[in-house]
Amino acid sequence: MKITIAKNSGFCFGVKRAVDIVEKLSSGRDKIYTNGPIIHNPQVIRSLSRQGVKTLNSSDDALRLRDGLLVIRTHGMKKDFPEAVSKKVRVIDATCPFVGRAQRIVKKLSAEGRKVIILGDAHHPEVEGLVSYAEDAAVIKTPREASKLDLRGRIGFLSQTTQSVGDFAAISRYIKKRNAEAMIFDTICRTTSLRQSEVEKLARKSDIMVVVGGKNSANTKRLAAISRKHTVTYHIETSRELKKSWFVGKKLSVGIAAGASTPDRITREVAGRIKKISAGR
Ligand code: SF4
Repeated sequence: MKITIAKNSGFCFGVKRAVDIVEKLSSGRDKIYTNGPIIHNPQVIRSLSRQGVKTLNSSDDALRLRDGLLVIRTHGMKKDFPEAVSKKVRVIDATCPFVGRAQRIVKKLSAEGRKVIILGDAHHPEVEGLVSYAEDAAVIKTPREASKLDLRGRIGFLSQTTQSVGDFAAISRYIKKRNAEAMIFDTICRTTSLRQSEVEKLARKSDIMVVVGGKNSANTKRLAAISRKHTVTYHIETSRELKKSWFVGKKLSVGIAAGASTPDRITREVAGRIKKISAGR
């Protein structure tokens, strides 16, 4: 069995930066809180929780804090995140700089009186944050949804940082054809573009793809969806989910890709387990 791990796998710049910030802070004396999971990987969140890092579920939870440090997660926060929180606890911003750039673009487009169209998942915390910076916003998930929009007048278009490069390009062309004055900003981060094209190439030459990462991770789900268009694909969080029946008795070429919030250790464990399965162990 031939096993190939995608070169661009594992923690991206923004995730590594956020996890480093939290781990460093957790070795100090202060209690550490995050506004929601700092990244979308349950295994990493459990590990941080063992180090004493508490994940808050809402702004109300943050308002109830009396002391400690609150770390803003990679996906950012809503514009109206209560200012009162920073009067009680120190706030450390671990928003990924690429998400921060998208927030600034939404703010600028809004200040210019433009309606802001965002390609993304309306319920994802990053998108909820982006929408909060706009006076008037519409969120679309697919190119088909773009055809239902009123594209007249002053508009701007951008994307959640982890969306499909292909969908963004198709919608951009569609909008430009109908409104030449529309302002379009490609806010998909570089690591997302690289991983998507690498996964596509790897999936094309693999009999099976295993995509490793949080089931709640937008970028990992996107990689699995791209891969699924080309070959049999399994999305798992850890090696425990691997099934012998996927591999046994077959001479296969297996590709492995991991999302931007998946630790390398977990990806290596998956590769090791697949090797053992192929050796009949
Ligand atoms: S996937 Fe991109 S936007 Fe998201 S945390 Fe990583 S570098 Fe930042």
